[in-house]
Amino acid sequence: MTRTPPWLSVVIPAFNEEANLEACHRELVPVLEGLGRPFEVIVVDDGSTDRTFEVLTGLAAADPRLRLIRFRRNAGQTAALDAGFKAALGEVVVTMDADLQNDPRDIPRLLAQLGPYDAACGWRVRRQDSWVKRVSSRIANAVRNRLTAESIHDTGCTLKAYRRECLARLKLYRGMHRFLPTLLKLEGFRVVEVPVNHRPRRAGRSKYSIGNRLWAGLADLLAVRWMMRRRLEYEIERIV
Ligand code: UDP
Ligand code: MG
Repeated sequence: MTRTPPWLSVVIPAFNEEANLEACHRELVPVLEGLGRPFEVIVVDDGSTDRTFEVLTGLAAADPRLRLIRFRRNAGQTAALDAGFKAALGEVVVTMDADLQNDPRDIPRLLAQLGPYDAACGWRVRRQDSWVKRVSSRIANAVRNRLTAESIHDTGCTLKAYRRECLARLKLYRGMHRFLPTLLKLEGFRVVEVPVNHRPRRAGRSKYSIGNRLWAGLADLLAVRWMMRRRLEYEIERIV
């Protein structure tokens, strides 16, 4: 028997999230079932060194809608998302974190924007993170907006929904997951921000700190700025 192809693919990057994945699956599945359309969930284990993959194979054994990709070693969140995008079969793709800081119940509201828009990006209006993280993220967003002439409140929120065909047009590089809205706009796609819920991390640890985000983030920013400035802009007047 051939299975109906999924309409929706949920892509979840996971690096050392052993204690979060069961709850994540438990919370996510009823929301997706409520949509009434076929779906798949793709979890990309980004080279975890804890029991993440064992937990995932246990869950996948009981749920054929769950697909797993495991990296040989840690390659970063953008790489994990990229692998998920390439494997996704749905015409619509949703991304979210594995630690349940994103609330799966926001997914229907993001999906409702696809149609008028090509991508809907979550905006964590009341972030449940340490003040150091909130302040550094606010500064990063302000600098990013300034240097890329953008007005995006929160590019770091993984909870986003896209038409898959738009993602296929992007060539991603490390760190670029923070610039997806800008990269999509560069390709001429319509992007909207949607306020979403945000919750404290329940288990495990954050993979980011000021130390590993600031300088890399700045280099990424300059690269994106260069891409924007050097974008090919021409109008063909005539072809003979
Ligand atoms: N993540 C990943 N690879 C990495 C770093 C993070 O797949 O190298 C995943 C992580 O497991 C989580 C998501 O990306 O599902 C966001 O990471 P985290 O929660 O640590 O970021 P924060 O919410 O603290 O900004
Ligand atoms: Mg998190």
